[in-house]
Amino acid sequence: MRVLLDETKLNEGVLRLASEIDDFYGNQRHLTVIAVMTGSLVLFADLIRRLSMPQRVGVVQASSYRGGTKSGELRVDSNMMIDVAGRDVLLVDDIFDTGKTLDRLQQMMLDSGATTVKTAVLLHKKREHSVAMRPDFVAFEIPDEFVVGYGLDYLDMYRNLPYLAVLEPDEIEATAS
Ligand code: 5GP
Repeated sequence: MRVLLDETKLNEGVLRLASEIDDFYGNQRHLTVIAVMTGSLVLFADLIRRLSMPQRVGVVQASSYRGGTKSGELRVDSNMMIDVAGRDVLLVDDIFDTGKTLDRLQQMMLDSGATTVKTAVLLHKKREHSVAMRPDFVAFEIPDEFVVGYGLDYLDMYRNLPYLAVLEPDEIEATAS
């Protein structure tokens, strides 16, 4: 596997992200921080411990990669969501690829009565996006390649890797077989 971002770089990226979010919200304003599961699992745990404002923490499940590396139909499960009405919401996701997930979730939060909805991602893929919105806080821009590790999976594997790596076509084949 080709390592794209090692542990040190990832740590620096998360610190940078936290500091930008802190600068924007300040350390007094209450924030409702929502993890987009499952890809943001590792980032989320690292990020919320570095933010200095009082936080309510919740999760929402969204999946679009069903057993492959290509984006499929988006499914959202909000059964575990916490109330966002009248709240300042920050959605945290692993990667902005087509953009469909965050676009849909941002609209969903606003429809549920959130006062404001901002978005933060670890990775922003350099490619054409399918939506007009862009994430408000981004740690890294990466090339349009399929990456795993630090929460990101292929067939539910590799989420535990402490680094981010490009999964090459032969490794994709080997994992799937
Ligand atoms: P979207 O296309 O809606 O912006 O991306 C939604 C989701 O697709 C991301 O949250 C992430 O779980 C998954 N995804 C997009 N690009 C990649 C990638 O390069 N690697 C992995 N493992 N997942 C990705």
